Amino acid sequence: MSKQEKREFHSRSSGVFFEIKRTLFKKKSRYQEIEVFDNPYFGRMLFLDGLVQTTEKDEFFYHEMLIHPAMVTHPDPKQILIIGGGDGGALKETLRYPIERVKMVEIDPDVIAVAKKYFPWLLHSLEDERADILIADGKEFLEDSQDKYDVVFIDSSEPVGPSVTLHERSFFELVKDRLNPSGIACAQMGAPFFQMESLKRAKDDLKDVFEIIRFFLAPVPTYPGGNWCFVYLSDQVDPFAIKREPPPDLQYFNLEIHKAAFALPNYLLEILK
Ligand code: SAM
Repeated sequence: MSKQEKREFHSRSSGVFFEIKRTLFKKKSRYQEIEVFDNPYFGRMLFLDGLVQTTEKDEFFYHEMLIHPAMVTHPDPKQILIIGGGDGGALKETLRYPIERVKMVEIDPDVIAVAKKYFPWLLHSLEDERADILIADGKEFLEDSQDKYDVVFIDSSEPVGPSVTLHERSFFELVKDRLNPSGIACAQMGAPFFQMESLKRAKDDLKDVFEIIRFFLAPVPTYPGGNWCFVYLSDQVDPFAIKREPPPDLQYFNLEIHKAAFALPNYLLEILK
């Protein structure tokens, strides 16, 4: 019998595909198509609207690189905000630090429910006593609340569906306004080789909002092109001003990786300088 497969056909007339050993969950939520599959190599895989979000085997690349650059450079990170991130991976990495509170604002409760049921290694993060899990649109949450944070992470999906607002300049202006002095924001910014136009637009928008804008890269095996872009945003804290060692037992991030991640290839320097 031929193998069953899940194909992610992404924006640049190419894609990736994964063998499906078992389909564990499939539902159209109020916001998106949510699917969970079992793959012989990657284990549990979460797809939203047909795009890989996270897998059991390689989630550490993305979540460690989204969270640790800010957490090793902020002078005293105590109040943290995560927008999106419903699978709980970003929360897991944030909770490795002696923070006071972390708020996670996820628009789709079905993503959290699916993560709790099919990604049990994330359950303890989603139920940690320091974590407040809120169901809301990230932009509306920031508009409605005046609370301030030391670090804000934007763990959004691709700019489709509910995630579109999390890629707009007005959203990042709100993020900046909700940062304490010495605040840092880090956001996932998509596939560098496939989304150069949107990266350039983001750079042009962000340079009018933050003093320090540094894009950085990391491999993510199951993402389009196997390479992912993030951005480090602050008015005062330089990403090379390391304040602390990262937690032990990380699988990807270390301080050498931190420095190297901000080194950009020429084709990106052209559009991001
Ligand atoms: N952590 C994931 C990974 O490993 O790739 C990254 C994507 S995460 C699943 C993206 C989350 O953002 C989804 O759970 C989605 O429901 C949520 N989301 C999308 N738009 C949102 C919005 N406007 N406000 C809050 N959460 C949103």
